[in-house]
Amino acid sequence: MGNFFITIDQGTTSSRAILYDNRINKVDISQVELTQYYPKEGLVEHDLEEIWNSVVFCVRELIEKHSLKPEEIVSIGITNQRETVALWDKKTQKPLAKAIVWQDRRTAEFCKKLKEDGLEEVIKEKTGLLLDPYFSASKMKWLKDNLNLKNKSDYLFGTIDTFLIYKLSGGKNFFTDASNASRTSLFNIQNCKYDEDLLKIFDLEDIQLPEIKENADYFGETELFGGTIKICGVAGDQQAALIGQTCFESGSVKSTYGTGCFLMLNTGKNLVTSKNKLLTTVAYKLDGDITYALEGSIFVAGSSIQYLRDKLNFFNSAEESEKFALEADPSSQVFVVPAFTGLGAPHWKPEAKGAIFGLTLNSGINEISLATLESVAFQTKELLNAMQADGAKVNSIKIDGGMSNNAFFSQLLANTLKTEIYKPKDIETTALGATYLAAIGSGFAKQDDLKDFWNMDKKFLPENNLDQKFAAWQKYLKKLIQ
Ligand code: ADP
Repeated sequence: MGNFFITIDQGTTSSRAILYDNRINKVDISQVELTQYYPKEGLVEHDLEEIWNSVVFCVRELIEKHSLKPEEIVSIGITNQRETVALWDKKTQKPLAKAIVWQDRRTAEFCKKLKEDGLEEVIKEKTGLLLDPYFSASKMKWLKDNLNLKNKSDYLFGTIDTFLIYKLSGGKNFFTDASNASRTSLFNIQNCKYDEDLLKIFDLEDIQLPEIKENADYFGETELFGGTIKICGVAGDQQAALIGQTCFESGSVKSTYGTGCFLMLNTGKNLVTSKNKLLTTVAYKLDGDITYALEGSIFVAGSSIQYLRDKLNFFNSAEESEKFALEADPSSQVFVVPAFTGLGAPHWKPEAKGAIFGLTLNSGINEISLATLESVAFQTKELLNAMQADGAKVNSIKIDGGMSNNAFFSQLLANTLKTEIYKPKDIETTALGATYLAAIGSGFAKQDDLKDFWNMDKKFLPENNLDQKFAAWQKYLKKLIQ
């Protein structure tokens, strides 16, 4: 058996491959940025050829740079942007259209019509998701109609994991995993199978769908890198981060702060239906057992800091936001609602726009930087409140993503949430999670062994109480979306 793992992390803005050693420590990384196509207002596309070439390039670069032989690689893990839909020719493996990315809103009208037809409740009950263009099914329907696809044996639909597995295996394996399948809107979370009623609702009864595997499983093998390498672990990005943070116990929570923020609570075998507009999803399926999660997503987290950097020219690097916030007038009552691309959970107001409130002649870069970091903590508080209202008991949260490098922000989170915050040494938890799955799937490690792999970097304990500021911020937010 080999000594290394390679994990493919196919994200929205880039494709990466990460090399790990047999202690699952990161050795090296290769990364390629992806072109974002915005052909019209509300449309977001990716070029599938570009995705494929970037993935092959990254894996090959690692193998060549480290002179790895295929037999030295235990297995490949895959994690990916979720919900994005790929369509390709079954025989030639060539894409038949650009991928429709999760952010794409082109099917808003179709989803609205389904709502008017009274189908929202049944979709919510079966899928655990909301009726929204965000998820894959309406995007598949759009492609089927607009490309006038007729003969179902000619083409294949899949999420990005499926597209990569199909291509890596040379067209042999048409597979997905339970976490990715649970974001399609075609998957019944009760029994972990595609659902006839959902296929009918989305007019997709006549398409071929990938077989749903467990997260640590045999997904086939690839011969593309000079020999045979198995693929043994697959999960969608947020579920992979939950696994990478070893949140295996019911009640454990991770929160990822990248472009947006994704809070995910492991609810164990309990399928919790949210009364507060959170999503219910499959966290993972291992050894025949399904573990569920509650998920809340905020569209804007780190991108608000990017906005201060790139549009308001406050600083040259996102890290500097920490220094400016530390110098803010502590009595400042400036509030930011960073609804640049609408508001996600628990409001789901796609039309909302961002705003700054409470400016005085004393409000400068420092105060607005502080208010922006606070706004991300306050939004997290809303998600946590929603989870608690749904019955969750949360004592601590493990954080990751680029913004978790900001110690001031992490402390702010502990204060706002009145919860202990833990930051691991390796904040690339998405890739780490897929590697853990590849380790389990190849028989290299057991789920119980993985806790020993998680290393803490810093712990933040609640200090000051921010209740009053949070209440004031909520008032402004309500005013904005009324
Ligand atoms: P993604 O995976 O979504 O591309 P990352 O996890 O790489 O995101 O995080 C990048 C985001 O985090 C950027 O939006 C950036 O503005 C923000 N960010 C990175 N470092 C810091 C920091 N020290 N303080 C505040 N924000 C940061």
